[in-house]
Amino acid sequence: MAARLHRHASELPSLPLRLSASRIRLLGATNRPPSALRLRPKSCRPARVMAAAASATAEEGLKKGIAEFYDQSSGLWEDIWGDHMHHGFYDRGVTASIDDHRAAQIRMIEEALRFAGVSDDPSKKPKKVVDVGCGIGGSSRYLAKKYEAQCQGITLSPVQAQRAHNLAVVEGLADRVTFQVADALEQPFSDGQFSLVWSMESGEHMPDKKKFVGELARVAAPGATIIIVTWCHRDLLPSEDSLLPEELNLLNRICDAYYLPSWCSAADYIEIAQSLSLENIKTADWSENVAPFWPAVIRSALTWQGFTSLLQSGWKAIKGALAMPLMIEGYNKKLIKFAIITCHVELYLYMLTESKIQHECGQRRHHLLALVATAGGFYEHI
Ligand code: SAH
Repeated sequence: MAARLHRHASELPSLPLRLSASRIRLLGATNRPPSALRLRPKSCRPARVMAAAASATAEEGLKKGIAEFYDQSSGLWEDIWGDHMHHGFYDRGVTASIDDHRAAQIRMIEEALRFAGVSDDPSKKPKKVVDVGCGIGGSSRYLAKKYEAQCQGITLSPVQAQRAHNLAVVEGLADRVTFQVADALEQPFSDGQFSLVWSMESGEHMPDKKKFVGELARVAAPGATIIIVTWCHRDLLPSEDSLLPEELNLLNRICDAYYLPSWCSAADYIEIAQSLSLENIKTADWSENVAPFWPAVIRSALTWQGFTSLLQSGWKAIKGALAMPLMIEGYNKKLIKFAIITCHVELYLYMLTESKIQHECGQRRHHLLALVATAGGFYEHI
């Protein structure tokens, strides 16, 4: 079980990023082939092929578990907490009442946008948003209304995608807010489309964090903002190689209940973002701002309505509910961190590269003309 937790981003499975060739060039990558395409010694191949097959099977199993978990539990959550399936953001040190939860969840969205510096200015505000791991579309509808934007949400759960669509219809947003079942690690979008790439509490489900951030970067347009709000484990101390065995044990129990693969730290996310040449990379630890959340969820589950809905929702949802105290324990032990990571796909990089290309093309044309002129002169001479 402990093997599920990786120490560094460099130890995360390194699958080739699906950045387009042009994006790879623009982001300043070298001409070396992606690591998966480099030749390996023959003797390693069978073992690697088997390991890759095992990991692909594990990923499929994980995706199925996530889809079923949200298929079963989303109705329960919506009944009690509404359409946002993420933590609330509270002032530090307050005890939240259950009635505050919706305002706190909206505040979470607003704080994330503010932290990332997303502009409200009509000429700069996001026009196309992707909501990666959209739940029943609470953020998608909120962002579409706030920015008068188009929004596309993806989730692994067919029940969520359908419910998200129905709610968009009810709110009169169906012409610009759409949902589909799709994998965040292989998004059904072409490169460079979205001005805001939004992942609210879905990153913790991703088995390959590098591929996940790579996909967010791939679909982001030049100048786009990427916002990842996610559960992380604490950063390791310079003297540490891994978390402590008791910490690993606690995280693994949470993984089982919520269909989570390996955890990583905020520092790992930063390292990944840097490796992708993303810009203005920022992070913050909001663990204290979300501290009142789980106690409030537990209080709501203990109401008559919460209890009866839970019993009707199926074993996966019950298992998730029983694991809620583990989340509180993780926060109290400062093992679990609620992190925001934001960055930009740099516009200047594109502009600079573009002007460089133009410059080089200009130089070539110049040389060609000079050659033609020389050849013409030589022809006249003979
Ligand atoms: N962002 C939403 C929901 C968070 S719950 C909100 O704030 O309300 C986590 C969501 O991540 C679920 O919708 C789940 O289906 C989705 N998810 C997890 N792994 C995913 C993957 N590989 N691809 C797409 N969605 C995924």
